[in-house]
Amino acid sequence: MIGCLTFICGAFFQAWRLARPMARVDLHAHTNVSDGTLTPAELVNLAAKSGLTALAITDHDHVGALAAARAHAIDKGIEIVPGIELSVEEEGFELHLLGYLFDERDERLLATLDHLRVSRQGRAARIVERLQEMGLDITLEDVSKEVGAAAGQEASIGRPHIARALMAKGLVASVTEAFDIYLANGKPAVVAKEKLTAEQALALVHAAGGVAVLAHPVTIPEAHRETMVRRLAALGLDGLEVVHSKHGPIEREALAALADELGLIKTGGSDFHGANKPDVLLGTGRGGNVEVGPETLGALKKRKTERAR
Ligand code: AMP
Ligand code: FE
Ligand code: FE
Ligand code: ZN
Repeated sequence: MIGCLTFICGAFFQAWRLARPMARVDLHAHTNVSDGTLTPAELVNLAAKSGLTALAITDHDHVGALAAARAHAIDKGIEIVPGIELSVEEEGFELHLLGYLFDERDERLLATLDHLRVSRQGRAARIVERLQEMGLDITLEDVSKEVGAAAGQEASIGRPHIARALMAKGLVASVTEAFDIYLANGKPAVVAKEKLTAEQALALVHAAGGVAVLAHPVTIPEAHRETMVRRLAALGLDGLEVVHSKHGPIEREALAALADELGLIKTGGSDFHGANKPDVLLGTGRGGNVEVGPETLGALKKRKTERAR
């Protein structure tokens, strides 16, 4: 009798658990304040439509989308998590570090971001010059048309804006083609971007009260990946982005094991960029390969609190 009741209760619980929509968050998304194509308000609307309970906006070198997104999210029950994506050069490799839960008004952080954005503008001008030297009819004004703005501040200009300008002028068919022919690393129009060292980026995020996560570790060549993660962990990294639209199952397994061994928080996000990466969807990634629950955000918050002690 008791066994039968336990079975029935268990079956009911299982059915309830499966029927209940799983709370989902996305901890990696871009607006047109950097190289996404949606405005902060449009991104929040999409997050609401996608049923997200929390969204970290992680624009490259810019926190200008956060206030606008938060104001727009107020009646939608979506938590907007402070985020940033910083480019780092370490041992000759480019890495991306995600900062979370920092003080958005931190002066040192804001001054560094301003500096990086000015530097990005000079670099964009040099890339455009290279394209012109290659005979392409494109100007910096064409590129500026592709760049969004946040609260009167210039957006963080990057190669995707140049790619979109090339597309708008009919010089390439897609953003991907622009990268493949001209803009990807190693292609003829590329100019290096100013980057922080890992130590600088980690110190900046931590001093602003935040936590730092290595974004899409698979962009580090496999032969160097584990060594690099260990190095960053020794420097104070808090988490590893195990789940990402670019990561396959074998890579996730290896990264999760490494994170567990090193005491790093296993995080995830889609890396949504709107029409610049049309196959990557907010909250669900590529073909549904991203699923992140609110407990991941909880783990980051816990780490932040521990750091503050
Ligand atoms: P940047 O910050 O100017 O160096 O541009 C890097 C950004 O370009 C990345 O964050 C991606 O969003 C995007 N990106 C890099 N490679 C590609 C690619 N092959 N196709 C489309 N977007 C890319
Ligand atoms: Fe990007
Ligand atoms: Fe990135
Ligand atoms: Zn990103």
